[in-house]
Amino acid sequence: MTNQRDGAARTCSSPPGLSVLKFGGTSVKNIGRIQHVAGIVDSWRQSAPALVVVSAMGDTTDYLLKLARQCSSDPDRRELDLLMSTGEQISMALLAMVLRYAGIRAKSFTASQVGIFTETVHSSARIIDVKTDKILQAFADNEVVVVAGFQGVTADGDVTTLGRGGSDTTAVALAAAIGAPRCHIYTDVDGVYTADPNVIPEARLIKQISYEEVVEMSRLGARVIHPRAVELARRHEIALRIRNTFKPHHEGSLIDGGKDMEIHRAVSGVAIDTDHARVAIMDVPDRPGVAGKIVKALADRHIVIDMIMQAFHPTTGLSSITFTVHRSDLDQTIGILQQVKEELGAKEVLADTDVAKVSVIGAGLSGRPGIAAKLFATLGDDGINIKMIATSEMRLTCVVGTADAERAARLAHQAFDLDKAPSPDR
Ligand code: ADP
Ligand code: ASP
Ligand code: MG
Repeated sequence: MTNQRDGAARTCSSPPGLSVLKFGGTSVKNIGRIQHVAGIVDSWRQSAPALVVVSAMGDTTDYLLKLARQCSSDPDRRELDLLMSTGEQISMALLAMVLRYAGIRAKSFTASQVGIFTETVHSSARIIDVKTDKILQAFADNEVVVVAGFQGVTADGDVTTLGRGGSDTTAVALAAAIGAPRCHIYTDVDGVYTADPNVIPEARLIKQISYEEVVEMSRLGARVIHPRAVELARRHEIALRIRNTFKPHHEGSLIDGGKDMEIHRAVSGVAIDTDHARVAIMDVPDRPGVAGKIVKALADRHIVIDMIMQAFHPTTGLSSITFTVHRSDLDQTIGILQQVKEELGAKEVLADTDVAKVSVIGAGLSGRPGIAAKLFATLGDDGINIKMIATSEMRLTCVVGTADAERAARLAHQAFDLDKAPSPDR
């Protein structure tokens, strides 16, 4: 047992050569695809036991969310998690049935059956502990183990979910708990690309990339893998291989510590995030504790804020604080800020949904001011207005209007030659 969030204790008794395989929604979209997945699982289990994690079929989770919204504009979070978790329960049972029909011993488990314990936070719970006894028993009985991704259970037995895209995190948490050194994430593209290949067709496949770069890329919108899954893999030194379900022999991309990487790129990729909105609280008195009050009010409701910007107006002696939040938190954020506005004597709360984050990510960004200069000039030359900017060691983010996002990303991709094979001096 560990108290670490998204933690998982390693055990010594896992079978040697064990593989953890995770299949995303498009990979299990219909029965034909589930049969195809069963074929991949069968070829893995010829050499060693297989632990399989599945997402819900196709767009099932979106469909369930839509049903919930038809019942309530603000569905109860506990009930919503119970509903959302059913998607993965369908696909796990179907895969186990298909495997068994093919004569392969297989057994499926929900998170509460396995014992994937989370904190009591609905819709984005973090894993606290993972039990392994049921899984190890099934391996001892020569069964393929199929586990529902995306879900967990609290100590009180309530079902939770781990956040959209969270099946990746389930797979890595299970790999850590049973001591598997590798986790294969099967999806609908060949691996991690320099940008979303469905948006920027000239994006290139990256054969090997570090955990740190992928965490940053996925946090900034590259949904090919969930950022928490990559953080967990880094902490437990689990190598992740992203592969294409529809090209099972393609080697895909390897995400690891990056030790053997010969080329340290300044820029590794570009990401677009259209899931955020910009919120501003205007004309706040400029005195100590104001920012803390605003941020705490939001943190108390588990609202994550990003890209905080404070501007002081010397003529009025007032400041404005602007930040971005996930769109799904926007209504709640505005409600909270309206209350804080009264307490602080601020003037107004503004919200802007016409925003997209376009980010350039790379391990070699820090200490190279030329990269920011090149990005801003590239967007400026094309008439793209930058609404906000944020930088950190590994990323440079510009908030632009949604209509400009894809063009800005494509221009950045070109400006940093990401469509060309990398060379050591870039
Ligand atoms: P799954 O259902 O298998 O979990 P997702 O839809 O969550 O699949 O993630 C795969 C998708 O991620 C791809 O279809 C692709 O459009 C998108 N994507 C975004 N950025 C990238 C990137 N840098 N490299 C690869 N895929 C990316
Ligand atoms: N089914 C969940 C979702 O659509 C979890 C996942 O696919 O990883 O977000
Ligand atoms: Mg996914």
